[in-house]
Amino acid sequence: MRDQYDVIIIGAGPSGLSCAIELQKSDMTILLLEKNKEIGPKICAGGLTAKIKNVEIPLEISEILFSSVLVSVSDKTIPILNNNIPFVGTLDRGKLGQYLLNKLSNKVTILRDFEVSQIENDFIIAGNRKIKYKYLIGADGSNSIVRKFLGLKNNKFITAIQYSLPLNNQYMELCFDATLFGSGYGWIFPHKDYVSVGCGVQNFKCSEKLELKNSFNKWLIDKKIEVENAELQGSIISFDYRGFNFGNKFLVGDAGGFTSGLTGEGIYFGMVSGIEVARKIINPEYKCGEISEILKIKRFHENTLALISFLVKINKHLANSIFKLLLNLMKREYFSKKLIKHFG
Ligand SMILES: Cc1cc2nc3c(=O)[nH]c(=O)nc-3n(C[C@H](O)[C@H](O)[C@H](O)COP(=O)(O)OP(=O)(O)OC[C@H]3O[C@@H](n4cnc5c(N)ncnc54)[C@H](O)[C@@H]3O)c2cc1C
Repeated sequence: MRDQYDVIIIGAGPSGLSCAIELQKSDMTILLLEKNKEIGPKICAGGLTAKIKNVEIPLEISEILFSSVLVSVSDKTIPILNNNIPFVGTLDRGKLGQYLLNKLSNKVTILRDFEVSQIENDFIIAGNRKIKYKYLIGADGSNSIVRKFLGLKNNKFITAIQYSLPLNNQYMELCFDATLFGSGYGWIFPHKDYVSVGCGVQNFKCSEKLELKNSFNKWLIDKKIEVENAELQGSIISFDYRGFNFGNKFLVGDAGGFTSGLTGEGIYFGMVSGIEVARKIINPEYKCGEISEILKIKRFHENTLALISFLVKINKHLANSIFKLLLNLMKREYFSKKLIKHFG
């Protein structure tokens, strides 16, 4: 191992791995550092949308694909159909990690169980080693140490909690109920061997932790889902985007706040940002058009979120009534197609 690299990437999640895969096309020296022993597994519902094909991930990597999703607003449920064409699915984070890892050649030095504890302007400290860099990429998730070094605030985030349960659900389900989840939602995402059942809410305060758990439990009881002995997992998902290029330092994925604040979808956005930043480092003239595209989608999602949050703030029951009206519209093919186009 050297004590200097052209590029150091901190974090081997989907965004860091995608970045390394693209960077290895250059003749730069690349170091990828991951604090966990194993690359891949992460608290995540593993939901994916058809957009994932854009980053050369075949849909076959998914565990299950669905051409319909059940959407409910409190007690009313309808299926959103897509002419038998799969448009959403689930994937296992461990398998995604391994799939991306297999694309890396020995041009990339990968160190697992290697936590970066300090960032300086041209070197990092990990373990008791000092390693110099020309470019540094923070792909280190929602609690990014690189983001902290850059002094960027992290004011927008989703708090998400979930159980992995040995159930047999056949459909992906989304539940909107402002009295339980405010402007967030509950989900049921079936995988091959388990089902992720969880919920996420935007920008909630620590004091509301108990309230979130109580709402989640109430929903689980309504759905007759038993969670006895299952471990409740939780994490935040940052969506506070404040730029990605800071001189010789870059932020990608959750570290950069690229995730959708409305849906919490972050795997695809993380991968695109990772690939684009690699292209920018290889060719500083590169315009990062695909980052502009994902930011456009993100903006649209977050404008929708602002509207929903406004309604929820005025009156949660009124918000539910409006959600129900919208749900009724989704029975029409024209509107369900629009929904899938903008959020699928
Ligand atoms: C409960 C939950 C459900 C979710 N469901 C979905 C979903 O259905 N679909 C979807 O698209 N997204 C979902 N997300 C969001 C998704 O998990 C993230 O957007 C995605 O993982 C971001 O990828 P990333 O590579 O940017 O960060 P991460 O996947 O968080 O990877 C960051 C990596 O950096 C490593 N790291 C951190 N700090 C250091 C350090 N100091 N030194 C070395 N290594 C470090 C970490 O160990 C980690 O491996 C969900 C998130 C949660 C919490």
